[in-house]
Amino acid sequence: MRREGVALVVSAPSGAGKTTLIRRLLGEFSTFSYSVSCTTRRPRAGEIDGKDYSFLSREEFEHRKAEGFFAEWAEVYGNLYGTPLEPVWGMLRQGSDMLFDIDVQGAAQIKLSLDGAAVFVFVLPPSMEELERRLRGRGQDDETVIQRRLESARREMTEAGWYDALIVNDTLERAYDALRSVYLSATLAPARNPGLRACLSA
Ligand code: ADP
Ligand code: 5GP
Repeated sequence: MRREGVALVVSAPSGAGKTTLIRRLLGEFSTFSYSVSCTTRRPRAGEIDGKDYSFLSREEFEHRKAEGFFAEWAEVYGNLYGTPLEPVWGMLRQGSDMLFDIDVQGAAQIKLSLDGAAVFVFVLPPSMEELERRLRGRGQDDETVIQRRLESARREMTEAGWYDALIVNDTLERAYDALRSVYLSATLAPARNPGLRACLSA
């Protein structure tokens, strides 16, 4: 029986392990489409335009923003990021699950615009020391950027109390099990299973 799509929004302070967890979920469940965001930041080595992000100039981003192209947008670490509105509604209407990797400010906007249709997960590092270790271990950022990310992490974690699920990424196995459980439970909600709901009153 056909069900409606789950919009799963995942946020985390940079370095907590969100990308690792999301890639695994996308690898296990082919039901998911990934919401490709637009950004003004430069591509990192290995990132593909149109797959990881749509990379835009600031001018183009501002133009699309003014046209109402984005479901939400935010400035994160000095760059603009936004979720295109149209593909989101289209995919959910078709019954596809959608995965969003967005920061706390953007997640709060999605909460308002999707009006209860989305499930929100916040991934926490086991400690600030471990977060710092992971940021350094990833070898992507210089010292100034690491310090800025740690400062933002503290702020983001104080803003995350409204999420539906908080997952501590201590061991990857445990954190991944928790994430897939949140997703699988969401697929069972009566609101996403109109066919089964009809059986209840039959
Ligand atoms: P984010 O997307 O949240 O910035 P990443 O997924 O890039 O984080 O992970 C940051 C670093 O931490 C990567 O080097 C990744 O391999 C490592 N990592 C992720 N999860 C764990 C874990 N549970 N234990 C140890 N290292 C981890
Ligand atoms: P990165 O540049 O490391 O890929 O991402 C930096 C931050 O921007 C992450 O916290 C990520 O979740 C967030 N982000 C990525 N895409 C979007 C988006 O479309 N909207 C918002 N609000 N945040 C995003």
